[in-house]
Amino acid sequence: MKKQQLVKSTSGIRGVVGNGLDPVMASAYGAAFGTFLKKGTVVVGSDTRPSGEMVRQAVVSGLVSVGINVIDIGIVPTPTVEIAVKQLNADGGICVTASHNPAEWNALKFFNRAGEFITPAQYRILEKIFNLQSFAYKPFDKLGNISYQDKWIDKHIRKTLAVKTVDRAAIKKRHFKVVVDAINGAGSVALPFLLEKLGAKVIKINCYGNGNFIHGAEPIPENLEQLCRAVKKHKADLGMACDPDADRLALVDERGQPVGEELTLTIAVMEVLRKTRGITVINLSTSRTTADIAKALGSQVLYSRVGEANVVAMMHSKGAIIGGEGNGGVIYPSFHAGRDSLIAAALVLSALAWGKKSLSALVKTFPRYYNIKSKAPLPADFPARLKRFERKAQDLLGKYKIDRRDGLRFDFSDGWFQLRASNTEPIFRLIVETTDQKWTETLRRQVIRFFR
Ligand code: MG
Repeated sequence: MKKQQLVKSTSGIRGVVGNGLDPVMASAYGAAFGTFLKKGTVVVGSDTRPSGEMVRQAVVSGLVSVGINVIDIGIVPTPTVEIAVKQLNADGGICVTASHNPAEWNALKFFNRAGEFITPAQYRILEKIFNLQSFAYKPFDKLGNISYQDKWIDKHIRKTLAVKTVDRAAIKKRHFKVVVDAINGAGSVALPFLLEKLGAKVIKINCYGNGNFIHGAEPIPENLEQLCRAVKKHKADLGMACDPDADRLALVDERGQPVGEELTLTIAVMEVLRKTRGITVINLSTSRTTADIAKALGSQVLYSRVGEANVVAMMHSKGAIIGGEGNGGVIYPSFHAGRDSLIAAALVLSALAWGKKSLSALVKTFPRYYNIKSKAPLPADFPARLKRFERKAQDLLGKYKIDRRDGLRFDFSDGWFQLRASNTEPIFRLIVETTDQKWTETLRRQVIRFFR
């Protein structure tokens, strides 16, 4: 079999296990990260996929070989690693997870001492050390040590319950019934446990934490049929689904209809801005619904490039109080600056409790947009075609604004669309969103045709 390239981006290093990603490479990245840090302590955790233990052991071995002490916190959500790094005053963190990618994939996500993604500049240094294989190996008496801590999910939950914006008394009064689908991933224990602590009755499906991804791993509507059926069957108030590393959250309403990942962020933003004034940062692929709701609540809305590291960097530089990515990734920096399905779930219940509405009724109060996300093979001359397309856009749209920071994004009175090359696959993505279903579809067809 042809050796596949590892996929490298600011969100980490990903590969197919046994075909690009192997223990030698994982150990080398551990040694490279330790060499980059020079000394100190690194927190390591993983999700539930079958290769998790193998890759984690290899990474730990690499770290220890260059004198780094490791705190292994076991199988945990990605945000739990981020929180542990900060609370333990560690020097960095590594989470072994390929997030929403299928089970044959695994990946490494690297965090700095703040428990946030390392910057592109830091990543370039790490990559240089890895490529030169210039690791600062230590003799036997200078190796790092390994310790194990298994209470970090509890700590993450306690931290979530202590967030003042989450109205625990109001949530308790509603006696929510919630069906949780954790796709047997790292959220299998954490998400149901948090909801129970908030006073909800929880029905668990795919919460065995055994790494059996029995449906598509991304929490998008086509993968949530089982959850939708369970919500109806149990007459629940809502359904919640996370991805395998539990940083993204998607919702299903009480009628068993998926409301889409986008609205998780809208609801969380609404709940925070209702209580605190401040700036919102969302990425350039996020639904206008979130921006509309934020603006209606008096917030300035700023857009960042796609990717958690980019959103967080802008949140810090602008002092934003809430934001995230429309793919269900809520970031609440006063809690911690990373996507987190637990704080997202707590904010959603808090919002529902306050509004005294069902989820479908709450969603009906939002401006309605029709959003289509599509992808197509990346033409070799994509940048040149983008330039040509830009000159054509006027015929298609009339009056519009362009943002060129991440591919091209066009904003016009009744909608927007964004075209960008994927960081991780040889495809480009197109997201179209307008107030009219037909217009959204027409626009999508016309844009895609230009790039065929
Ligand atoms: Mg994820």
